[in-house]
Amino acid sequence: MSFTTRFAPSPTGHLHIGHAFSAWTAWHAAVEAEGRFLLRLEDIDTDRCKPEFEPVILDDLIWLGLDWEEPVRRQSEHFGDYARVLERLQTLGVVYRCFKTRREILEDIARAPHGPGEVYRGPIEPMSADEEAARIATDEPFAWRLSLDHCRDVLGPRFDAMGYLEDGLGEQAANPDPLGDVILARKDVGTSYHIAVVHDDALQGISHVIRGEDLREMTPLHVLLQTLLDLPTPIYRHHRLLLDENGERFAKRNRSVTLKALREGGVPPEDIRARFSG
Ligand code: GLU
Repeated sequence: MSFTTRFAPSPTGHLHIGHAFSAWTAWHAAVEAEGRFLLRLEDIDTDRCKPEFEPVILDDLIWLGLDWEEPVRRQSEHFGDYARVLERLQTLGVVYRCFKTRREILEDIARAPHGPGEVYRGPIEPMSADEEAARIATDEPFAWRLSLDHCRDVLGPRFDAMGYLEDGLGEQAANPDPLGDVILARKDVGTSYHIAVVHDDALQGISHVIRGEDLREMTPLHVLLQTLLDLPTPIYRHHRLLLDENGERFAKRNRSVTLKALREGGVPPEDIRARFSG
């Protein structure tokens, strides 16, 4: 298997040192493996993502010394691909329309049959087909949620056997139960990060997903989607998160650590890369 990895920022702001570490870790792994490094802009959230951040992101990465294969994939140009994934999940019968408000969801969580939990595990009483049709007719907003119960029915014993390889740690079980029935799309936005990332990793032949450990909890969900959609599961590497002087994670809202500010302030890129070792 040839080594292909990617860096997949969302252009909702400028990149900071934490992103630089993630990008550099993936790029460096590709160089060491004599493999491929791709760049993907995850900009499906058209409210939060701004096109003006894109050239800055590219300049930041070039300044850091990274290079990537063209073309850069821009997810906002592929909503049709993600709509087809949602259709497949609908055909499999593993997603359902959820009309509940946030408050109603919290109420359901509080009176869940097996005791109150932290996450939504589906409606306590399923909605009748008549009520659903009536609510669709009145144009109410809804979310498409992935039903873990239905996934279990469709996959049978494969559900409990799901796993993935974590680079350096070996085989890991992929148990999506702690996440509950997550939202995969909304009536007005027919996709989500989960659908788009799973689709694109497969489409682009990503053999190694290298990303921060803050996304580790989502990996079982991504493995579940790969299993449902008959897509290959890449090898995952969840790297540590870089922390600032106060032991906090870098955040987009902290302007002082954006790569743009550092670059324009004359900090040499070697100084940034020096923070990545150890
Ligand atoms: N777009 C995601 C982010 O900026 C990264 C997704 C991934 O690497 O899987 O957090």
